[in-house]
Amino acid sequence: MASISPSTVSSLSRGAWLTDSHGRIIHDLRVSITDRCNYKCVYCRDGENSSHYPELGMDEYLRLIEAFVGLGISKVRLTGGEPLLRRDLPEMIRELAGMRTLDGGRLDLALTTNGHLLEDLAGPLKAAGLNRVTVSMDAVDAETFERITRVPGSFERVLRGVRAARAAGLTPLKINCVLLRGFNDSQIEGFARFARAEGVVARFIEFMPLEEGRLWSPEIVVPMREIVERIGRVLPLEELEARDASETARRFGFADGVGEIGIIAPVTQAFCGACSRVRLTSDGKIRTCLFSQIEHDLYGRLRAGVSQEELRAYIARTVQGKEARHHIGEPGFLKPSRSMVHIGG
Ligand code: SAM
Repeated sequence: MASISPSTVSSLSRGAWLTDSHGRIIHDLRVSITDRCNYKCVYCRDGENSSHYPELGMDEYLRLIEAFVGLGISKVRLTGGEPLLRRDLPEMIRELAGMRTLDGGRLDLALTTNGHLLEDLAGPLKAAGLNRVTVSMDAVDAETFERITRVPGSFERVLRGVRAARAAGLTPLKINCVLLRGFNDSQIEGFARFARAEGVVARFIEFMPLEEGRLWSPEIVVPMREIVERIGRVLPLEELEARDASETARRFGFADGVGEIGIIAPVTQAFCGACSRVRLTSDGKIRTCLFSQIEHDLYGRLRAGVSQEELRAYIARTVQGKEARHHIGEPGFLKPSRSMVHIGG
């Protein structure tokens, strides 16, 4: 049976935790530290020069994150945009690694990146206290990859980044691949082989309606069932038990015991009922769901000079109103006003 993580159990036993009105415990914070990106992935960006939201200073992110941690957040994932574009990232990781969770433990610190700058940064980030990294890679074939990122030479760079991260001990190393029918669904079996050869966990993600343009349709989504069937035909799979009740990915091991894949299926197998996440945008707004129609201005309160206690009270009230679920594919579904790159994936 799936269980909740030890640090969450500990927060619960101390009676301090962040909950919503649907009874979910929120212990996972995703923070976008920039919405700039050095890639223009075709399914994410519309290719035009898009405008950007303001970024905060490192100390401001740290104050906001500290307020969440004071309410029971035990896992922080930095994302963007492309988080490696921030030059102060190693320093920020060092500061976060020094924060303590409510039970006195260390934060679980993770990062999501496109890997373009990872070769040089993997070692310094590990030394600064980063635990894990997830690299986004939407193809294992260089030509398909670069058609998606629209950056020549990007495949080799990311591959070197992945290997540097593994060598630095930023493990388990996960590689996220968003699948779109007709774009990169030819890569499914290749990804499974790549994961085994490189000693990484390949995770396939169903495409969500969060792009800048208008690409999403139910037909373009490659559903979990199809991914499992296709890989299973060439490399038999066995479903693995979830490690944590709020785990987003369904995990499958290869029957010969070598390697693992994960499938994140927010469209065909929504996991909102077990959601433990809340997001902070690069300009300091709280988003209680990827698909929220409203944002809550935490940074505005910081700028107005409120205390950490008042920030915590505001966060706790805001999280109470977290949406029950998303409505992808339902009549009347509304895309959020920000796309994925500006929210923080
Ligand atoms: N630049 C970093 C990266 O590439 O990982 C972090 C930000 S990026 C927005 C985070 C993740 O969101 C990437 O894995 C990306 O593929 C994924 N993503 C972007 N648009 C998406 C969409 N519409 N549906 C599902 N995943 C998406």
